[in-house]
Amino acid sequence: MKAAIAHDFKKKLVIENINIPSIGVNDVLVNIKACGVCHTDIHACQGDWPVKPKMPLIPGHEGVGIVTEVGANVDHVKVGDRVGVPFLYTACGYCDYCLEGKETLCPDCLYTGYHVDGGYADYCKADARYIVKIPDELGFIEAAPLFCAGVTSYKALKVSNTKPGDWVAIVGVGGLGHLAIQYAIAMGLNVIAVDTGENKKELSLRLGAKHFIDFKIDTPEIKIKELLGTGVHAAICLAVSKAGFESAYASIRRGGTLVLVGLPPEDMPVPIFDTVINGITLVGSIVGTRRDLAECLDFAAQGKIKTNIEVRKLEDINTIFDELEKGEVTGRIVMDFE
Ligand code: NAD
Ligand code: ZN
Ligand code: ZN
Repeated sequence: MKAAIAHDFKKKLVIENINIPSIGVNDVLVNIKACGVCHTDIHACQGDWPVKPKMPLIPGHEGVGIVTEVGANVDHVKVGDRVGVPFLYTACGYCDYCLEGKETLCPDCLYTGYHVDGGYADYCKADARYIVKIPDELGFIEAAPLFCAGVTSYKALKVSNTKPGDWVAIVGVGGLGHLAIQYAIAMGLNVIAVDTGENKKELSLRLGAKHFIDFKIDTPEIKIKELLGTGVHAAICLAVSKAGFESAYASIRRGGTLVLVGLPPEDMPVPIFDTVINGITLVGSIVGTRRDLAECLDFAAQGKIKTNIEVRKLEDINTIFDELEKGEVTGRIVMDFE
């Protein structure tokens, strides 16, 4: 099978022909039809984070396709099912977190395209318990980005302590952020989008954001206070930038919530005094559970969420990474394997 492989940190990916993975008794084999490119894949290949991925690595955690083989113990998935292989590759199933339906917090969880080879390949092995079926209404290309960008944005909003009618700042209108705008609106929130450039402005306003703030022209926290007379109820930071987090923090009103989603390699100093006096809640949000994913797919199946997709080929992967790093992608790039 064809796969894009990272052999070492900070090196270009290489397209190679390798053997199709063999599966265990609890696994399935998925013939990948499409895979989105998440900024996390760049962090993985750069070795940006304290926990390092395996090397060599086949990245990709927005891989979707058709099940072609099932392990001997698998009975709830069958050959021919349309499924996606999300970032949460597996979890233990019996720790406190797993038992509470918080499997993304399982200390023994593994990540697809990070600890385990992922979807930048014709075939991908997956733990049958952690794949999620794709609703019939969605094609492979449109379903792929929902398996990370969609579920992560949706979950971040779920933990933002907001209610319909509240104001939310979506800081970073990339692959995740442009879906966060749509989920926020579907959940009844008023959106202020923050990013830079005409393309992101046009996309944000077209998707229904009430305002767009270009962080290279205006200081977002000042502009938000001009627009609302106060801060937002919640800011969701999906930017790959420490500056984005600092300005998201400064944009929240008293009693508000900052949801941290983007994962720039730097740290962000949190002012203790302001956080205490203003009663600010800081929430870290990591992808979403299988339940969150099913809900997030259902919004899209009902036509409420449309990813702005540019379709490309696996062979373009190094160029795609360059474009994503420069912030030139408007929406999500999805690689078509068909
Ligand atoms: P992307 O490259 O598509 O989007 C990032 C966006 O941030 C770009 O549009 C860029 O212009 C914008 N940006 C940069 N600086 C900014 C600033 N100061 N203010 C506002 N916007 C700014 O990336 P993506 O695929 O959407 O991923 C975003 C981040 O989220 C990455 O760090 C990724 O690793 C992380 N991520 C986290 C989770 C999670 O579970 N927490 C899941 C997926 C991705
Ligand atoms: Zn991702
Ligand atoms: Zn567990």
